[in-house]
Amino acid sequence: MPISANDPNRTSWLYVNKYSDFPIQNIPFGVFLTREDIITIGTRIGDTAIDLGALHQLGYFDGIPLTDDIFLQDSLNDFIADGRKTWRAVRNRVAEIFDSNNETLKNNTKHKEIICFRLDEIEMQMPVHVGDYTDFYSSKEHATNVGSMFRDPDNALLPNWLHIPVGYHGRSSSIVTTHIPIHRPQGQTMPEGADKPVFGPSKLVDFELEMAFITTDANDLGEPIPIEEAEEYIFGLVVFNDWSARDIQKWEYVPLGPFLAKNFASSMSPWIVTLDALEPFRVASPKQNPEPLPYLKTKGKHSFDINLEASIIPKGGKETTVCKTNFKYMYWNMAQQLAHHTINGCPVNAGDMMGSGTISGPTEDSYGSMLELTWKGTKPVKLKDGTERKFINDYDTVVMRGYCENEDVRIGFGQVKTQLLPVFNPKKKK
Ligand code: MN
Repeated sequence: MPISANDPNRTSWLYVNKYSDFPIQNIPFGVFLTREDIITIGTRIGDTAIDLGALHQLGYFDGIPLTDDIFLQDSLNDFIADGRKTWRAVRNRVAEIFDSNNETLKNNTKHKEIICFRLDEIEMQMPVHVGDYTDFYSSKEHATNVGSMFRDPDNALLPNWLHIPVGYHGRSSSIVTTHIPIHRPQGQTMPEGADKPVFGPSKLVDFELEMAFITTDANDLGEPIPIEEAEEYIFGLVVFNDWSARDIQKWEYVPLGPFLAKNFASSMSPWIVTLDALEPFRVASPKQNPEPLPYLKTKGKHSFDINLEASIIPKGGKETTVCKTNFKYMYWNMAQQLAHHTINGCPVNAGDMMGSGTISGPTEDSYGSMLELTWKGTKPVKLKDGTERKFINDYDTVVMRGYCENEDVRIGFGQVKTQLLPVFNPKKKK
């Protein structure tokens, strides 16, 4: 089935700002609460949220095999489990319904009232129930920077790094969506020069600018996913802030890798942009040397040109962009990550999430974490209000955005915006 929804010449009868992340060619998927406090699956064109449950009930998806309640749910998991054919058919139909040349819904005021919402009438929710969350470490620049700082600049990459998409299993229970504040974690750290660890609030809370992809049901126990098929199982992507406590991380991570430094919170943007919508932005990945083993070899373009940025807003202050990077810098692509993840027969399910790892570019302003931007705090970043940051302060808000752009169309992810609150205070809990 062709992806007719991506036609760059298509316009919508809904108003779309020229700089919007959500033209009619995007059609992402999300979950929101409507003004009547009903939870529904929806999409977005410009600044209009569209209730897909209502569209379905009113018969606009006739001819597409969908169960009656597929969009009347609090997560996208069942829809994602339906597979690529269904996602594509639904996106194509939504594009037709809202096309400038189609007046059916446009001229039906009653239906429009039920289906269309202003953004201030809805509240975005977590779009998926994340079953399992895996985080990779796939940016060569990031791995090199971290290896240089914590170990040895001459041997920054460990011997396995160029052969394996290195990853670890995170926690899905602490993944939240935009506008959900998080608390500074407490934990054990070993201060520089001390001979025993101390307990207290992390002093080095950091963001990690990542993207994450969400999968559909892919394989049974024991069955690897061949690399040529891997992308078939990717539903879409979000911008992902994988919060990290660097001081806790440094003390705890040997020998089994990150634990409490990473699993206190991760924040995802609420609209899942489908891999289909990103098709026009395919680019080649960086050249891999040495050549990967056969099960990890990809041909053609498997990376995506997605501009990413991170900014900090101090309490009551102005926003300062601190990093601009791009998803295309990733050394290991998503197909390689998924093929590697399942080569041992580990099953991947609908709603699983895979983080890319911090995405750093080649230049100092393209590093995807404060750890790298400030080089372990030795080069603080200056904000617009004159204050400096080595890491993230209490009440700072971190915003991450992502978008693709060519001469025809801009496809974006919106934003994930998260405020860091002080350490949790049990007395304040009612
Ligand atoms: Mn991470």
